Amino acid sequence: MSDQSTSATRTEPPQIVGYTLRDSRYLNITNRCTLRCAFCPKFNDQWTVQDYQLRLDHEPTLEEIVAAAGNPEDYREIVFCGLGEPTLRLYTLLEVATRLRPRARRIRLNTDGLANLVYGRDVTPDMESLIDALSVSLNAQDAETYNQHCRPKLPGAYEAMLDFVRCAREFVPEITLTAIDGLPGVDIAACEKIAQRLKVGFRRRVLNVVG
Ligand code: SF4
Repeated sequence: MSDQSTSATRTEPPQIVGYTLRDSRYLNITNRCTLRCAFCPKFNDQWTVQDYQLRLDHEPTLEEIVAAAGNPEDYREIVFCGLGEPTLRLYTLLEVATRLRPRARRIRLNTDGLANLVYGRDVTPDMESLIDALSVSLNAQDAETYNQHCRPKLPGAYEAMLDFVRCAREFVPEITLTAIDGLPGVDIAACEKIAQRLKVGFRRRVLNVVG
């Protein structure tokens, strides 16, 4: 974390809520997380992703997020994804998606898949007709490896994430599980098999590449 005394004397760049990668518009709506991933750049005080400084000085309001989306029709997709877990602001997220829906070609949510665990109910029906695609961080082929890398704050996170995916299949047309290649003990082939068993897609990710 940054030193308060130095941050007070330097001019911080304005916080970035909306940013563009390739032809997609990304929305960075919170820095809070359910996980504490050991590989996360923010735990190494790295908040910059491809020149975008994603550290928030406050959580953006609904209006700020909608404004940050720009003209949704200009992008291939709108993606809820920043250095934080978007579903920790589920109701704001859903309201933003509702507002953007008429103009957005596609709305994707990058998530840790722990929203059902956090909210104590199945929230996936809330996503119906609003979220077109989910990218869910599977991250490991078993709970032990997952816990080692992702260090969840809540018990039962790995199974809860898999349950979230099972539930979401009914309400979100496209689901892709992701895992990062190169982390010790992570078996990418085994992760892909889990996705196949769940009848969802799979994507191998590269460390520190957002998408
Ligand atoms: S879920 Fe993402 S932002 Fe949160 S700790 Fe893990 S890598 Fe970092």
